[in-house]
Amino acid sequence: MIAVKAYGAVDKDAALKEMTVNRRDLRDSDVHIDVLYCGVCHSDIHAKNNDWGNAKYPIIPGHEIIGKVLETGTSVTGHKVGDLVGVGCMVDSCQTCSACKDDLEQFCENGMTGTYNGKDRIGGAESEHTFGGYSTSIMVREEFVLRIPKNLDTKAVAPLLCAGITTYSPLKHWKIKKGDKVGVVGLGGLGHMGIKFAHAMGAETIMITTSPEKAKDAKRLGADGVLISTNDNELKAHIGSFDFILNTVPVSHDINPYLKLLKRDATMCMVGAIEPLKPMHGGNLIIGRKSVAGSLIGGIKETQEMLDFCAEHDIVSDVEMINVDDINSAFDRVQNSDVKYRFVIDMQSFKI
Ligand code: NAP
Ligand code: ZN
Repeated sequence: MIAVKAYGAVDKDAALKEMTVNRRDLRDSDVHIDVLYCGVCHSDIHAKNNDWGNAKYPIIPGHEIIGKVLETGTSVTGHKVGDLVGVGCMVDSCQTCSACKDDLEQFCENGMTGTYNGKDRIGGAESEHTFGGYSTSIMVREEFVLRIPKNLDTKAVAPLLCAGITTYSPLKHWKIKKGDKVGVVGLGGLGHMGIKFAHAMGAETIMITTSPEKAKDAKRLGADGVLISTNDNELKAHIGSFDFILNTVPVSHDINPYLKLLKRDATMCMVGAIEPLKPMHGGNLIIGRKSVAGSLIGGIKETQEMLDFCAEHDIVSDVEMINVDDINSAFDRVQNSDVKYRFVIDMQSFKI
């Protein structure tokens, strides 16, 4: 075991604080990574607060990890010492079920292993509960380590590992193309990436937000228009006009007003709230043959494709850099929708 410094929570009501956790010894198929940067996802807050009812403490969050390879196991062929690499929301899966074979490890039929709050597949012991990127180093199975393009601003690449793939994947799955009208609901970490990707794919992109003061930023990020969702007249003006809506709102809310915005046969994909939604009126689906769907991050192959797409289109996240001991106030600010548009921890602040 290797003892590493980490920042985490011992229960849902505790602030995050510095602690020491054990990383497993290097396995043949492992890449040991020195963590340089880690993004702060709203999921880190849900996990710490036990919003999904599966928290096992301590929780060391962090699944938007950028780092440098420190050492590799004997069977590792894809990465070498010194490489710039990334790790997202998964660190293992069975690799044999139909989902894994279809490059959809996030839907592994035997359960993918989350980067944090997961159970190590091989060890399974108490000490091998997985711990995320709010720490100085991490041990990850080779197949779950991504190559990071060299032409992008490294610290701003970190959020692509979750916010990026979570928005890229549904836009690709629903085949968004030039000329489609795409709405992105919620301008936060996921939403700002959704805007950038939909714009880069050639769609007419509309930011759907509760925050009028974010309108200027939305346009700078690539939105062709802004719809203030609390304004009924603005909603009415867009009824029946969207080919696709990506909904990133992190909490339960009324989705009926958004369903009315869809065209016939169009889909709204939920990626935010993983909790009961407010009742949906059947008429909002039946009239117009509309669909509500969901999507979870993306597979490893598609995550690499997304990183390469970003390299080609010069896309990164808009980040606010923080030191590791700023993390509790960063959590508060994310919950108040007050981040432009992703916090990223500079892990150097943890090493001095
Ligand atoms: P975030 O940075 O906090 O952004 C969420 C945005 O949603 C806010 O900025 C706000 O935008 C809007 N919003 C917040 N509360 C709202 C409310 N009550 N009603 C309407 N809009 C509201 O969060 P994030 O990191 O983007 O994550 C969003 C959600 O996605 C979280 O629940 C996270 O756990 C989940 N997630 C899912 C996946 C997946 O694979 N499906 C992956 C990562 C994260 P405006 O100010 O513009 O309204
Ligand atoms: Zn995330």
